[in-house]
Amino acid sequence: MPRGSRSAADRTPEKRPEAVKVVVRCRPLNKTEIANGYDKIVDIDTKRGQIRLRNPKAENDPPREFTFDAVYDEKSRQAELYDETFRSLVDSVLAGFNGTIFAYGQTGTGKTYTMEGIRDDPEQRGVIPSSFEHIFSHIDRSENCQYLVRASYLEIYQEEIRDLLSKDQNRRLELKERPDTGTYVKDLCSFVCKSVREIEHVMGIGNKNRSVGATNMNEHSSRSHAIFLVTVECSERDADGETHIRVGKLNMVDLAGSERQAKTGATGERLKEATKINLSLSALGNVISALVDGKSSHIPYRDSKLTRLLQDSLGGNARTIMVANMGPAAYNYDESVTTLRYANRAKNIKNKPKINEDPKDALLREFQEEIGKLKAQLQARSSGTGARKKHRSGSAAPAPGPETSAEQAVSPEEYLREQLERERAAIVGDQSIIAEDKERLLREMREKEQQLEQERLAREQLASRIQDMESKLLSGGKNIADRTNKQQRQLELSRQKIIEQKAKEREMLQQIEEQEGTRLDLQQTYQSLQQEVDVKTKKLKKLFNKLQAVKRDISDATEEFHRERRELEETGDALRKELKLKTVIIDNFVPPAQLKALLARVRFAEDSEEGGDGWLLAAPAVQLLDGRPVSATGGRRPVSEYARRAGAAGGGTRFKGENIMCLELDSAARTTRDYRGPSVAPRMAAALQKALTPTESVISVDASAPLRPDGFLLRASRKPAAASHSSRKRPPGRSPDSAHLYPQSRGLVPK
Ligand code: ADP
Ligand code: MG
Repeated sequence: MPRGSRSAADRTPEKRPEAVKVVVRCRPLNKTEIANGYDKIVDIDTKRGQIRLRNPKAENDPPREFTFDAVYDEKSRQAELYDETFRSLVDSVLAGFNGTIFAYGQTGTGKTYTMEGIRDDPEQRGVIPSSFEHIFSHIDRSENCQYLVRASYLEIYQEEIRDLLSKDQNRRLELKERPDTGTYVKDLCSFVCKSVREIEHVMGIGNKNRSVGATNMNEHSSRSHAIFLVTVECSERDADGETHIRVGKLNMVDLAGSERQAKTGATGERLKEATKINLSLSALGNVISALVDGKSSHIPYRDSKLTRLLQDSLGGNARTIMVANMGPAAYNYDESVTTLRYANRAKNIKNKPKINEDPKDALLREFQEEIGKLKAQLQARSSGTGARKKHRSGSAAPAPGPETSAEQAVSPEEYLREQLERERAAIVGDQSIIAEDKERLLREMREKEQQLEQERLAREQLASRIQDMESKLLSGGKNIADRTNKQQRQLELSRQKIIEQKAKEREMLQQIEEQEGTRLDLQQTYQSLQQEVDVKTKKLKKLFNKLQAVKRDISDATEEFHRERRELEETGDALRKELKLKTVIIDNFVPPAQLKALLARVRFAEDSEEGGDGWLLAAPAVQLLDGRPVSATGGRRPVSEYARRAGAAGGGTRFKGENIMCLELDSAARTTRDYRGPSVAPRMAAALQKALTPTESVISVDASAPLRPDGFLLRASRKPAAASHSSRKRPPGRSPDSAHLYPQSRGLVPK
């Protein structure tokens, strides 16, 4: 029975280097290929783990031969692949190792078929759904272990990470790094799953989101990498009674199609897109090359999101399997050779897997501690009620003796409630209490009841939270039928043994083949010359074949190198052209001072915190909001000197930053004129002027003087002004001699 299923080998503390396991799977010819009469150019020897590929353009050349940990032909079943290749990896994840499965290959060769398969057909279920079954049935069967299973699903497209389980599908996630746990995706959703059905549901949601976000699903899926991540945490009590937590992470990666993307002819945005499309994939190839090379001290993990995220799986703390998928048809020859050569290189990567024991970020530990805390809280609340009960029973309960046994049967809460009820009845029934007091006592009682109710609700909440958290943790040993079915277990074990035997056999056959060449050297003694000739011819033939194979490898490598160089040159040319365009724009449209300021702010961030590298524009050194710019003194807003001057010079509203509206009322047009006296003829005016001049003496008229026959006064003399003034001061009619100044009435005059 598996108890966390740790074998003795797993428990060795020493990290043993372990090669990446590489298997090749060739899909059957599809309907169109059959209809078009394409040739099959692949020979697969599953027993030896060998695959031979004939070149359709050079039929006489001997076939290319590759050897892998296992090869699967078109007849291979999904379950066979899982049991032989992936089951042991998932087992080690359950034991606390990290595990990664990559599906690599040209589009349409069966990567998605291998990883996901056909959902509705149990026979054609791929690795991911099979691993779900495996994980949960393992948990069911295990004893004394507590598990927590989480699932996440993400996609990398054009170097952008999208969480396929998040509600907001437009959000792009960032990679972050922590010294203790390594690289991780910030804010990635992870769902706790309690059963196969739940985790399948999570996967279904992710798949739906994957297709929703894409405009052309086929193109999108062939250019994006999808990673399904299952984290299994397991807590087990050791012999000393201490609990240990092991955390295994299983990455299942459906890579983008490995075929070459045509990069030529693209400009601007399209060029940027094209250079990004397979960046992760080519970075993966570079990382593999650097790891295998052994000479390079720098492994370019940081070149892409994919390699950063899966750094552990390539030369680090993980067990890794790569499935190289390929098509059997003749027209796929070039891509198939590239895939096989890629896979052949990956075989030489050495990993150092180890069990992740008691890591700091184990969620299971957090859950256990939280549950412990909540339980303690619940305990404290319950005992609090208990204490109250005792206190009350001491003061109010009349008969403690016989009731104690009955008390035990009811819950403390019910007891309290009953007691309150009794007290209430007693108060209501008691005639000696006056109405006011009764009211008060009843009110107090109601308050107590409310408190009791609140207490009950809080306890219920706590209990449900505990239950909720506990339900997320899975304990094995519940499925008794599974546990007791020893026969089935036995059968599985023997099947596993057969598989291991087969793998061993394959390994030995491969070794024999390798040694065959060297064995010929040892046959030194020959019975006859003819025999010597025969043996040496045979040896020569073998060596010649080897030489040819090596030569082909060399020419392949040279050709590949040239092709890559050509592509790089083309990309370089296109980028140079882009650069020239940008330079022209900058030279003509960006003021030199601005450009200088911008260049001072910009910096290239390699390995930046924000993830990836690129140019970053620092915040301007001058804080715009810190104070008013000099040009704005006296104004409410920053205004340029030019605008200020133009505004002051009356440039109209064009240069006004504010108050451009005229809010004063227009007065109505006047309909009246000011009064102006009649104009005086100049002669008259002069005369009047003369007459009114005060410096001139006043003309005094003697009215008493005899009138001339024409009626004019005869006596008129000028007096000095001062004298006239004094004479004028005298009130008229009071003067003693004023009477003779006026004409006397002559009475009736006879006619
Ligand atoms: P990829 O993901 O590599 O682009 P798919 O997994 O979508 O390719 O496979 C393309 C087609 O080939 C699918 O229709 C799939 O069902 C079929 N196919 C791939 N591999 C196999 C196989 N081993 N057996 C049967 N059908 C296969
Ligand atoms: Mg696919």
